[in-house]
Amino acid sequence: MRFHKAESAFFVFIFVILTAGLVTLHAYDFLHAAVDQVRNPEVLERVAYLTRLLFLTGVLLATALFFGVFFIYPLIREQVKEEGKLRAMTVSLSARSETFEHAALTDALTGMQNRRYFDDALREYLVEFRRVRRPIGLMILDLDHFKQVNDTHGHDVGDEVLRAVASCLKDMTRHHDVVARLGGEEFAVVTPNMDDELLARFAERIRKAIAAMAIQSGNVRLKVTASVGLAMWDRKETAEEFYRRADRQLYEAKKLGRNRVCA
Ligand code: GH3
Ligand code: MG
Ligand code: MG
Repeated sequence: MRFHKAESAFFVFIFVILTAGLVTLHAYDFLHAAVDQVRNPEVLERVAYLTRLLFLTGVLLATALFFGVFFIYPLIREQVKEEGKLRAMTVSLSARSETFEHAALTDALTGMQNRRYFDDALREYLVEFRRVRRPIGLMILDLDHFKQVNDTHGHDVGDEVLRAVASCLKDMTRHHDVVARLGGEEFAVVTPNMDDELLARFAERIRKAIAAMAIQSGNVRLKVTASVGLAMWDRKETAEEFYRRADRQLYEAKKLGRNRVCA
C-alpha cells in the first residue's frame, strides 16, 4: 500500500507526538518517585509544580494525538481520495482529447492524414525549409474517371479503391513525407529533400504502381489510374500559392489525357 505525501507527513507528526508523550510520561514517573526523597519543603513545592506542568504537557499531547487521529487524518484521507479521483479524471480527459485531436486530423475512410493536417503540415514544412535551404516538392494525385467506378460497381467498391490507393501511397512514401487524402479521390504528398528530377521519377513510380494495382472487391476486379500534378517550391510563394501551382499541373495532366504526371 502506498501512502500519499500528506499521509506520510502525518504519520511522522504522530510518531513525534507519541515519542514526546512517552518522554513526558517517563519524566513524570521519574519526578513522582523523586518526591519521596525530597525533604526540603521549598524544593518539594517546586517538584510538585514541575509534576503538574508535566501532567499538563501529557494532557496537551494526548489532546493533539486525539485531534490528529480523529479529525486531521480523516480530512487528509478525504483530500487524498479527491485528488486521486481528479487525477483519474484528468488522465481520461486528456486521453479523450488526444482521441478527438487524432480524429480531427485523420481521414476516417483510409486512416491517412486529412486535408486539415495537410494544410498545417505544408505550412510548417515551408517555414522549416525556408531556414535549411533544401528543396521541397508537392504532388497532387486525382484518380481518373472515378465517378464511373462508383456508377458501375457501387460506392462500396469505390471506397475499397480509395483504401487500396491510400495503402499504396503509404507503402511507397518515406516516413517524413506528408501523405494525405485531401477529399474525394484526391491525394497529396509533400516530399522534402527531393530535387525536381527525383520528384518526377518518384511521381512516375507512384503513377505506375497505382495503374498496376488490381483491386479485388468481392468478385469484382478492377484497375484505376491517376493523374499527377507536381511542383517544386520556389522559396517565395505561400503554401496556398504552392498548392495552386501543383493543382494547375494536375489540371494539365487531366487535359492531356489523364494517367500521367505533369510538372
Ligand atoms: P476525373 O478523371 O476528371 O477526375 O473524373 P472523376 O470522375 O474522377 O471526377 P469527378 O470529380 O467527376 O468525380 C469524383 C467522384 O468521386 C464523385 C464522387 O462520387 C466520388 N467520391 C468522392 N468521395 C468519395 C468517397 O468517399 N467514396 C466513394 N466511393 N466515392 C467518392
Ligand atoms: Mg478524379
Ligand atoms: Mg477530383
